[in-house]
Amino acid sequence: MIATDSKVGTVSFYIDGAWEKPSGRTTGTVTNPATGAILAEVPYANPSDVDRAVQTAHAAFLKWREVPVVDRVQVLYRYRALLDKCANDLAAILTSENGKATDDARMEVRRMIQMVEVACGMPSLMMGDSLNDVAAGIDCKTIRQPIGVCAGITPFNFPAMVPMWMYPFAIACGNAFVLKPSEKVPLTPTRAIELLHDAGLPPGVLNLIHGDKVSVDALLHHPLVKAVSFVGSTPVAKYIYTTAAAEGKRVQALGGAKNHLIVMPDADMPKAVEAIIGSAFGGAGERCLAGSVLVPVGDAAGPLLELLVARTKALTVGDGSVPGIEMGPLVTGDHCQKVAGYVDKGVAEGATPLVDGRERRGVPSGPGGYFLGPTIFDHVTPEMTIAREEIFGPVLSVMRVNTLDDAIALVNASPFGNATAIFTTSGKSARDYSSRCEVGMVGINVGVAAPMAFFPFAGWKNSFFGDLHAHGKDAVSFYTEQKVIMSRWF
Ligand code: NAD
Repeated sequence: MIATDSKVGTVSFYIDGAWEKPSGRTTGTVTNPATGAILAEVPYANPSDVDRAVQTAHAAFLKWREVPVVDRVQVLYRYRALLDKCANDLAAILTSENGKATDDARMEVRRMIQMVEVACGMPSLMMGDSLNDVAAGIDCKTIRQPIGVCAGITPFNFPAMVPMWMYPFAIACGNAFVLKPSEKVPLTPTRAIELLHDAGLPPGVLNLIHGDKVSVDALLHHPLVKAVSFVGSTPVAKYIYTTAAAEGKRVQALGGAKNHLIVMPDADMPKAVEAIIGSAFGGAGERCLAGSVLVPVGDAAGPLLELLVARTKALTVGDGSVPGIEMGPLVTGDHCQKVAGYVDKGVAEGATPLVDGRERRGVPSGPGGYFLGPTIFDHVTPEMTIAREEIFGPVLSVMRVNTLDDAIALVNASPFGNATAIFTTSGKSARDYSSRCEVGMVGINVGVAAPMAFFPFAGWKNSFFGDLHAHGKDAVSFYTEQKVIMSRWF
């Protein structure tokens, strides 16, 4: 079943195993950022729609939690097979609404499938501990039980992967789920849930709504929602964390980033440059793991920037669905305008543009496309706006320092702490940096330190609000309550 038409259609809600086309309080539009063409209209859920989705989820939870975990994961095994079969179609939908290049989209779909693969291991992952004779004739064990209805609110930049950080783990643990994906890119999660429906998930266990702050607020205040997983910008992450926590809910809220890439003079420069290009400009810089500040140490700057500038100027920018394109458009016209505004500000505040992405604005597909070329600024200083704020676009700021200690001080002064990388051939520099930086995800000669599905994913400081990180074993802890049972038999 296809929930949207191939041309303009209205995206549906999925509640109690059925696709509905609600009138909605208001609607938004989904555009193809490479052309500006309108792909679909998105209805925004009313609080009453949200209540219906949550009540449905709660009713389904009461039955689903009784299904043995070995049977629950059978749905996920079938889901995995369907996702695999439809991987290229999913990637094409993703490129059409988000803009990322086809190779990036396929990589994201691969990562999305890996989440399901890990969640299929839930019978082992949910196991507790036990010890006989903790006192004479008394045995003790821990068990993990699902917590109820969980809600997920996700951002525009990874519409295939980020929802999968949440619902496969949550439902494998025996919970029911309500997903509210980004209203900018609802088509990819919709297609993914069509496949979950086809895999035989019982009605109500997973529900999909669309919307904005009003819809999200209804989830945050709903008494039957027991846990909230959020991924998005820092101000919203903080709001979600404080609001849902004040309602007594369990919350994990992953926020924005300003990621530093440190380059030591002893680095393998050609390899470092390739990794930096991927980190700063892959996905048009719309990644929470994107390197946005380049920190050459000592005399690394000369050889590094010479190679980097040449490679950046040669990057192919265009419609992500065209083979060979390395960088697609930005997600919306407004976002493109915002990122170009940061480039204007960088120039106005005195940074030196080595590559100015505004020269490739709108190129090559004419007025409809939200294209901005990659930008590199040199001689960026800590007080400049482009050094402090998350830009979330293809803009790399170079901040030169003299020593590794200076680099560490610069990184640790940032209010963000999502990801970082160091490029070096020195084990000592790598070790010093990775142990002393106040950052959640660290790459050593790896430009995008994205943890795989079986490891936890989250940053530190203003990049994360909560305790338990996304996916890996943390997801099992997040989506379950632990219980200790002591028994004595007479
Ligand atoms: P966003 O914060 O604007 O939106 C994220 C979600 O929150 C969407 O579903 C949106 O509808 C909802 N939302 C927006 N404003 C809201 C409000 N005032 N109240 C309640 N809900 C609201 O983020 P975005 O622009 O979609 O995504 C980009 C951001 O996400 C960047 O800051 C990026 O760093 C971050 N991100 C972080 C991670 C991570 O792992 N830390 C991963 C991906 C993206």
